[in-house]
Amino acid sequence: MPGIEAYREIIGNDELDELYLLADRLKGKAVQNINSTAVGGGVAEILSRMIPLLRDLGVDAYWDVIKGDEKFFAVTKDMHNALHGLNIDISKTDLDYFLEVNRRNSEELDLFGDIMFIHDPQPIGLVEKREHMSNKWIWRCHIDISAPHEATMNFLRGFIDRYDAAVFSAPSFARSDLATKQILIPPSIDPLSEKNRDLPEETIDSVVERFGLDRDRPIVSQISRFDYLKDPLGVIDVYKKVKDHIDCQLALAGGGATDDPEGPRVLDQIRAAAKSDPDIHIIYLPPSSDVEINALQRASTVILQKSLREGFGLTVTEALWKAKPVIATAAGGIPLQIRHKRTGILTYSVAGTAHYLRELLSEPEYAQKLGVNGREHVKNNFLITRHIKDYLSLFISLYYKEDIVYL
Ligand code: UDP
Repeated sequence: MPGIEAYREIIGNDELDELYLLADRLKGKAVQNINSTAVGGGVAEILSRMIPLLRDLGVDAYWDVIKGDEKFFAVTKDMHNALHGLNIDISKTDLDYFLEVNRRNSEELDLFGDIMFIHDPQPIGLVEKREHMSNKWIWRCHIDISAPHEATMNFLRGFIDRYDAAVFSAPSFARSDLATKQILIPPSIDPLSEKNRDLPEETIDSVVERFGLDRDRPIVSQISRFDYLKDPLGVIDVYKKVKDHIDCQLALAGGGATDDPEGPRVLDQIRAAAKSDPDIHIIYLPPSSDVEINALQRASTVILQKSLREGFGLTVTEALWKAKPVIATAAGGIPLQIRHKRTGILTYSVAGTAHYLRELLSEPEYAQKLGVNGREHVKNNFLITRHIKDYLSLFISLYYKEDIVYL
């Protein structure tokens, strides 16, 4: 994987040199990231590239993953869905189990970081340990918690307020009822990772062929975890509406995450909905399918992200970086990435998505223009180097209090 110096030609000398200056201010501070899965989903995706780059900059950065069983991840998935606003009551027994697993992890993990950087709700309870430690704690929330199921939010608030800061991905996710400092830092993609780097045409051709798709006809895709909130069934409805007018193929590709138990059930339902249409390709992607995802995105004529709820939507960022026309729901952080009719299309329904899909498939020049604008927008705002700069600035700010520097 390319080191930090490789980004000089993408972002320029000034931006990169600033990263070294900021990293230098953190000498002697260990930054320990903790989340709940090493593979699958946006958080693991970011950490797997962020940690080596931080280390390359000279930051003492680490990444640990908490351990949980099926029962724990079933509870945390309910919690995830409830925070996204679904009406799910989590029982006291389940919440007690959640706490028990967090306590067990806080005993088993060495929580040594000067800065403890805890990602998402699953490991949020580790902060109970801070009473015995003098380090700094940050909670990084990748979920849209602007309209959550209140009981779940009330439960989590007690933990969030024990952190020095809470980081959210979009301004609309901020809340007025938190005592802790709230920081806005949108996520990012790595332009040089296997998933996003330029690919030779032969590689794209061979992946497309392997999955049985035909590059001579339009390919519409959604590449996302198989999760109800990504609405893969809605995507099939959209495709069916458009297919009556335009001959196209649908690629629904994705896999699961080790902290998401719902995947197999969703996959069965999609297979049933696709029935025997040979132009619907349901592609199960094992972990480490980065080149396949890269190639499928590049081979797509139009990319959909029809999420009912969304955190930030890194799949949208990845698609825009490849200069693809994207039609996505105006959910979560997607409107930060897509300015309607400028860097892509925002929709709200199956009918709206089908309407715009027909338009983009019939007007390739317009579609291409949206894609080019989208790539520029990502370049300016959502690359990993900007993300690293924001994190380093946040870490440094933890040691400032009323103009006194503690570093
Ligand atoms: N992803 C993956 N394999 C899959 C499905 C998704 O590697 O089968 C990646 C995808 O390319 C993106 C991330 O996982 O980088 C998903 O992040 P996003 O913010 O879109 O959604 P999340 O899964 O975190 O809800």
